[in-house]
Amino acid sequence: MSLETQSYSDVRLYIDGEWREGQDGRQIDVINPATGEVIGRVAHAATSDLDAALAAAERGFQTWRATSAFERYKIMRKAAELLRERADGIARLMTQEQGKPLAEARGETLAAADTIDWLAEEGRRTYGRIVPARAAGVEQRIVRQPVGPVAAFTPWNFPINQVVRKLSSALATGCSIIVKAPEETPASPAELIRAFADAGVPAGVIGLVYGVPSEISSYLIPHPTIRKVTFTGSTPVGKQLAAMAGEHMKLATMELGGHAPALVFDDADVEQAARLLVGSKFRNAGQVCVSPTRFLIQRGVFETFLERFVALAREIKVGNGLDPDVTMGPLANERRRPALEALIDDARSQGATVQLGGKGSDGPGYFFEPTVLTGLTPQMRAMNEEPFGPLALLVPFDDLEEALAEANRLPFGLAAYAFTASSKTAQALSDRLEAGMLTINHLGIALPELPFGGIKDSGYGSEGGSEALEAYLTTKLVTHMG
Ligand code: NAD
Repeated sequence: MSLETQSYSDVRLYIDGEWREGQDGRQIDVINPATGEVIGRVAHAATSDLDAALAAAERGFQTWRATSAFERYKIMRKAAELLRERADGIARLMTQEQGKPLAEARGETLAAADTIDWLAEEGRRTYGRIVPARAAGVEQRIVRQPVGPVAAFTPWNFPINQVVRKLSSALATGCSIIVKAPEETPASPAELIRAFADAGVPAGVIGLVYGVPSEISSYLIPHPTIRKVTFTGSTPVGKQLAAMAGEHMKLATMELGGHAPALVFDDADVEQAARLLVGSKFRNAGQVCVSPTRFLIQRGVFETFLERFVALAREIKVGNGLDPDVTMGPLANERRRPALEALIDDARSQGATVQLGGKGSDGPGYFFEPTVLTGLTPQMRAMNEEPFGPLALLVPFDDLEEALAEANRLPFGLAAYAFTASSKTAQALSDRLEAGMLTINHLGIALPELPFGGIKDSGYGSEGGSEALEAYLTTKLVTHMG
């Protein structure tokens, strides 16, 4: 199939079981980041649409909380199956709107089906407990209940994955949810929601809206219908939304930015570390919250690692993600290119060396070269601000203490990577590295059955493992004398 003949339809809102345009008829253009062309439009929700979604979510919550956990599980498993059947078509939509290679888009869609399965199953295990009473005839029951209608805000880097974690946790626990999905990449998350609708989720349980993010969040979060807020995106926006949630006493889960350290020690398998870290760094053109960004390399292996890392990064084929040979697509939107260039220029002007890449392309599309910098110092902007792009910063260190001090220097604490043959070093990292997730000698994070989330400025709450459901449940004590 030629790269020019992919179909991409306009995307509508999903409110109260119906796909519809926004009530004031406004639409937002969707751009293919590989070509810079408008490929479709997405409906823009008016305030009256948000009111309709809120009223539907209130009704949907009453229906869904009264549906048994087993029935919810069956519907969710069916949605997962539909997603698997439709994965090829959905992946093509995602690549066109987001830019990532088709194989990554397909992988994301299939992984979403696994996430649905896991959370559907966990939903059947939201156990309460009985606490032995002090007095005869008293029964003390601890009951877990769904928190209520959820407002979810998700970004464009993983258009399906960022929605599915929130949506599945909400549905598995009996909550309804309104998703404000990304306007830049609206079609693939809409297909995720279509799979749930087609699987039989009742009207009102899921709402899908698009529009101006700040207008929608400032309308939904304070609204009395909404009982919980969940957001994935940058730390500054997360702090604003967390503050708003706090002001209105809403539960919140915040999955925010990172600046992940990747520590490679002298005793590590350097070849394996370079291979795994190049793959991880340039996946999705580095637009990943857990992407390794600060590569802290012990001095004895610094030159070897640098040489291998650059050689492997040179093999990356940048281009339109629909081309099967391409291994890295464009940046997902135009504003990321100047943002990256500013970080690189700042580092360069203070003495950093560009070992590879360093530039965006001039032609159509928002392509950026895989970039490797050395000669970095802690005051450079790139060493402090999340790059969110194909930028690797390589910094030598002498000993464990120096590596830990640099790794923990920033306010972020999302993912961390380490390669070492020493169990003593591994133990020290596990004790002292400030991160929500640490993966040692392999890449092992972001599986549905494992907790996923950060500490410090990277946010709070978990979006994986059995912890994911905790965030959507409240605890009620019922003590009863019979
Ligand atoms: P941004 O901060 O403007 O937006 C990030 C996301 O938050 C977008 O999806 C946006 O629609 C949403 N958003 C922004 N303001 C909002 C508001 N007031 N209410 C609700 N949602 C809002 O940045 P950007 O240019 O889109 O992306 C760049 C930065 O965002 C990156 O540097 C990175 O830190 C962060 N980001 C993080 C993730 C992640 O997975 N944690 C994903 C995408 C972007």
